[in-house]
Amino acid sequence: MATEALEQRMAMLDGNPRVSATRREQIQRLLADRVPEARVDVQTRLSRLTLVPRRGRPAALGLALHSGGHTRTALGPGSYAEVSLRANELRIKGRLDLLTISASHVDIVDHKTGREDPDHLDQLRFYGVLWENDLAANPSRMPMGELTVAYPATDITIQSPDASELDRITQSIKSRVRAADEQIEADPPVATTGPHCVQCPVRSICPAYWDSMNHDPTSVAPNSWFDFEGIVGDQNGAKSWWLLDRFGSRRVLLLRIASGAELAQGQRLRLLGIRRDHDPGVDGIVATLTTTSESFILSGEIAGTR
Ligand code: SF4
Repeated sequence: MATEALEQRMAMLDGNPRVSATRREQIQRLLADRVPEARVDVQTRLSRLTLVPRRGRPAALGLALHSGGHTRTALGPGSYAEVSLRANELRIKGRLDLLTISASHVDIVDHKTGREDPDHLDQLRFYGVLWENDLAANPSRMPMGELTVAYPATDITIQSPDASELDRITQSIKSRVRAADEQIEADPPVATTGPHCVQCPVRSICPAYWDSMNHDPTSVAPNSWFDFEGIVGDQNGAKSWWLLDRFGSRRVLLLRIASGAELAQGQRLRLLGIRRDHDPGVDGIVATLTTTSESFILSGEIAGTR
């Protein structure tokens, strides 16, 4: 099952211009090495779950096919994995890991791989509001029972929010949706920087990310990965260049090239996912543009990125 899931996930990378064939192979190898670990994790989690067979529902996950499209229908008793819910009036949607509907209530389980975090409980409450307000999946307004965050070794279960708490969360969601509307409609749209930016696939072209966040390599620990914007200075060796700061006024780091990239003096670059290295023989910070790093030229030319 874990191997099959890995194959499905890897197929999602096919055709992605930012993932070369070499990189795809590396990812596949790294993840395949972790399949035994994933298998144990899945077995442990399954041993703690009670799954209820679905009865009398011909359409899996509450989807019925009509006229070539999907129409969402009421969910009947049983367990549903990865079920999509949508609260049209609130303009929110989400996908729940596991929903189990009994004769009197519905229990929700959300699986997490990381450490315990109170935000995970807020996410469960959000799912509760979603369930309450999805009038297609839950037309009879079936009440919630237990909400559980399942971590690798333990579960945390809370009772469903009461009416006043549900109302408070609903009001908070409405005001956040309103605020998001205002930010999106602003010209230009508001960019909200924060720790989430390191996961953002468009950070290479986001001025707010480069202008307002700290990209000082001196604060990066050896063997850690970071992003950097600078100008290519003097060549140091066959495969290494000094990089200057954004203003071209001082040397900031020595960049070694482990990928096929070729640099040219004067290029202004944005580098994503370079690795800080330790080299006592170099008077300055050393970093490596690895085969997994990405380089974007703001001016000048570069050949063989990644
Ligand atoms: S990098 Fe820019 S666009 Fe991406 S999440 Fe951060 S602020 Fe938003």
